[in-house]
Amino acid sequence: MYRITGYLTPSLAKSFNIHNVAREAHQSCKILVIGGGTAGCTMAAKFTNKFKNAKDRVIVVEPSETHYYQPMFTLIGGGVKPFESCHEKMEKVLPKSAKWVKDKVTKFDPKSNTVIVGNGDSIEYEYLIVATGLQLHWDKIPGLKEALKDDKVPVCSIYGPDTVEKVFKIIKNTKSGTAYFTFPSSPVKCPGAPQKIAYLAEDYWRNKQKLRDIRVTYNTALPVIFGVKKYADALWKICEKRKIDVNLQTNLIKIIPSKNEAVFENLKNPNESRTVTFAMLHVTPPMGPPDVLKSHPELTNEAGFLTVDPQTLRHVKYPNIFGLGDCTDTPNSKTMAAIASQSKVVFGNITSDLDGKQAKETYDGYASCPLVTGYGKCILAEFNYKLEPTETFPMNQANEYFIMYLMKKDFFPYLYWNWMLKGRWNGPAVFRKYLNLFSNKNNVKEAAAKTT
Ligand SMILES: Cc1cc2nc3c(=O)[nH]c(=O)nc-3n(C[C@H](O)[C@H](O)[C@H](O)COP(=O)(O)OP(=O)(O)OC[C@H]3O[C@@H](n4cnc5c(N)ncnc54)[C@H](O)[C@@H]3O)c2cc1C
Repeated sequence: MYRITGYLTPSLAKSFNIHNVAREAHQSCKILVIGGGTAGCTMAAKFTNKFKNAKDRVIVVEPSETHYYQPMFTLIGGGVKPFESCHEKMEKVLPKSAKWVKDKVTKFDPKSNTVIVGNGDSIEYEYLIVATGLQLHWDKIPGLKEALKDDKVPVCSIYGPDTVEKVFKIIKNTKSGTAYFTFPSSPVKCPGAPQKIAYLAEDYWRNKQKLRDIRVTYNTALPVIFGVKKYADALWKICEKRKIDVNLQTNLIKIIPSKNEAVFENLKNPNESRTVTFAMLHVTPPMGPPDVLKSHPELTNEAGFLTVDPQTLRHVKYPNIFGLGDCTDTPNSKTMAAIASQSKVVFGNITSDLDGKQAKETYDGYASCPLVTGYGKCILAEFNYKLEPTETFPMNQANEYFIMYLMKKDFFPYLYWNWMLKGRWNGPAVFRKYLNLFSNKNNVKEAAAKTT
């Protein structure tokens, strides 16, 4: 349904050279997906696969022309993959049988099941899926934006499509001095990525025999190197062996690009700060929920993350709203891998609602993080809400393996573009059940129970 209730359409107004015309178009659909990133695209695909006449039933609101496979940013930063490998036109990845509204949602009105988009149009829904991801706050660190733009300043970040290509250039050009890698005091997407790029850089310099002159330090605002003890223990050993200094509770607060200086605060003693001179500075910017969520406190927690039930992913106040991906308040690690499992739950629960059945799907907080520890080496961390390892393969995944590196480099991207974005990948739970039959792992029974 599409109806123009204003006086003139924008194109007519333009041809009469009339501006500021009241325009108010209205559409409606069964499933409205906000965001065409990893989570939004996956959900749109699942529902268009389900409905025959999906064009009138599934609408996706997404302002961007380009879709990024962000996990590839780490390997681009390490010089393993070209930039071309991480992006695709949005029109190619969004399902053809969904309607794409190329705009931003500016207002949610959950009481009337409606959202308003940037041009003033409204869209009414039966079910709303919020998948707006995280917003990067480059401006929260004074000096960062200028430093990133200036090719002469060795400051870079794998976190943005516009900043990632500078990373490997700087790694190659660094000859001596101290390289600093940072993790901010905010939730981040893929909390392993800030240290993966440090391991790749260190390995590059080791292979080029430059490590005599370069010191590598990882500076994290967190009190731990990684949230899951099993993998944290393995990572500490790697850092000790490779002489990577790890500074916990150390937070980057300022950059002085003209002097190649950075200021860190000591979170154990907030009055204490330290200014250092860097040969290279890799910054993970502070992140948070998008502004549009923060301006709707009835939908969010205090920080602005969408409040959903951590098991069912249904909104705590509005039963026809679901959320998944980086924008929700669930305490899992914010990763694409988590979204694969979440997408099955959101799809299953909405489908049960539509069929008048009891919604039964639950999410256990599964996330995985392929911790690339060098060229050809990777620890595949897999865990749940309780931070218990939930490993899929019949080996100790806290060890570094070449096969895990190949999966990160080649298999996961294939899985993403060909299965996940087509709505056909729900995470590895089913495979875990069978593969664990060949091992003595503790999670065998648990995994089997969850997938039967
Ligand atoms: C460097 C890096 C390395 C990573 N490595 C891994 C990894 O190894 N493994 C892994 O599993 N995960 C990894 N991730 C994390 C993974 O990429 C994210 O968790 C995932 O992409 C989040 O998906 P999302 O759909 O929630 O958000 P996004 O993919 O960021 O999409 C959000 C979308 O919402 C849109 N949007 C925002 N506001 C609005 C609005 N108001 N109206 C409409 N649309 C809006 C945006 O334009 C965007 O397209 C990595 C991420 C990075 C950056």
